[in-house]
Amino acid sequence: MAIDRTISLRLVETRRLAGSGPLHPVDRVQQAVARANEIYADTGIEFRIRSIESHHMPHLYKYVRDKDAEGCSHGRNFCWTWADVRDELRQVFPNAPVDAYPDDDHKSAGYWLIAMATFYSDPAEILVWLVEESAERSGAAGPRTGRMVFVNQPDIWSTEFDIPTTTLGHEIGHFLGLKHVIDSSLHPGYTHCDRWDEIFIPGTPNVFFSSREDARCDDPDVRYIMKVANDNSQISVLGAYGPIQITLNGTVYQASGSGVDEELKGIFRATGSVHAPPNSWGFAMNAMPGEFPVDPLDGHIPRFFSDSQLATMEDFLTNDVEFDAKYKNLWLTAAGDIPVGAIPGSLTSLRSRLGARTFKVNSYQLVVHDKQRPYDFQGQGVRYPDAQIMIWTDDGRLFRLFFLPDDEALVQHYEPQPMRANVFLFSRQYQQCVDALRNDAPLYVWWDAVAGDFYLSSNQELPGEGES
Ligand SMILES: [Zn+2]
Repeated sequence: MAIDRTISLRLVETRRLAGSGPLHPVDRVQQAVARANEIYADTGIEFRIRSIESHHMPHLYKYVRDKDAEGCSHGRNFCWTWADVRDELRQVFPNAPVDAYPDDDHKSAGYWLIAMATFYSDPAEILVWLVEESAERSGAAGPRTGRMVFVNQPDIWSTEFDIPTTTLGHEIGHFLGLKHVIDSSLHPGYTHCDRWDEIFIPGTPNVFFSSREDARCDDPDVRYIMKVANDNSQISVLGAYGPIQITLNGTVYQASGSGVDEELKGIFRATGSVHAPPNSWGFAMNAMPGEFPVDPLDGHIPRFFSDSQLATMEDFLTNDVEFDAKYKNLWLTAAGDIPVGAIPGSLTSLRSRLGARTFKVNSYQLVVHDKQRPYDFQGQGVRYPDAQIMIWTDDGRLFRLFFLPDDEALVQHYEPQPMRANVFLFSRQYQQCVDALRNDAPLYVWWDAVAGDFYLSSNQELPGEGES
């Protein structure tokens, strides 16, 4: 069984300072997505980058959630009114009208990020906030709570090993309905049988399950393998890279590169996609561990999803569920209304639409047409744009669109290396670009060096082109 979905990711970096660059170079974000694709390789789900964007969001750069669902008090702990944040958010969601919420409606920064992604992001893709700071590391809105993933920027990269972490793939797992393997709670409508390869019934011998259909998994004595092992400190790592021994009710089970006891098949596999460094992992571990205390069970070990997790993801990708009332209330206006202009169906998970439309960029999707030789950018110095959009084409070309203040003299475009082009546009053209990209329309960027002018157009030919 495998799911066949190609899902676009829209990665949106929040920036505190207008002049600062993103924390990570773009290739690190790309590598984090590649890492997620390694983890999902066996599931049939593949992620493609639709865009990596960076926005100046001085009120919202930090993910802070109000623990109190009743609301927050203005200005304290990143609690902002719609009037405070609407311009920042409408950079990301130009489809949200100015009056989406009443001006004095207020939410904590994290809740604005979830609410807006829930009501205004494209259901065919996953919006991933790459927040500059977070009060609580990284996370995701689960299928019954909202639509968005957020990753604290430092979390996507292991500075210790200089490799991408598994965090992005893990958080998307939550987005698709998965719990940690040490978490025994269930989504409404699900039973422990739906997590058959993560559970057992203590006994002599212990009882394990090989399918959802086994009636015994509904027994009140069902326990979660990793929760029991973790609570009782019954996990041992015998060498730097394994094997791992798990003791359950007095019986020892093992996982190593030479084999994994059948009972642990939902938690460990003998082989995974080996990732370096360290490159000698002999086994792979479930992608949704939760808080594992044992070094080196850290974020860099190869990961996989179990068969029961795959079934759960398939469920949530097939059947849309309503959000829980508590969460609906957090995202609605203070008066309890759906904000103006919200996308249809935005109070349900809409995950059935994920991957329904992939963002197809190819060599003719975006064309930078230069009427003369590329502008020599040498000696121009580093510039920090207000906003930028990056577009990768299927043949490996990268276009970076920089949006400069409307009153600046435009540098036209330059190509720092083959297959790479930087294009400078005015901020007033930003929305046109975003709209064009959102609609998957071909977008042509033309510049006329003689007139010093730019054209954004859906026409393949500049007016007058081809005449002599
Ligand atoms: Zn988690």
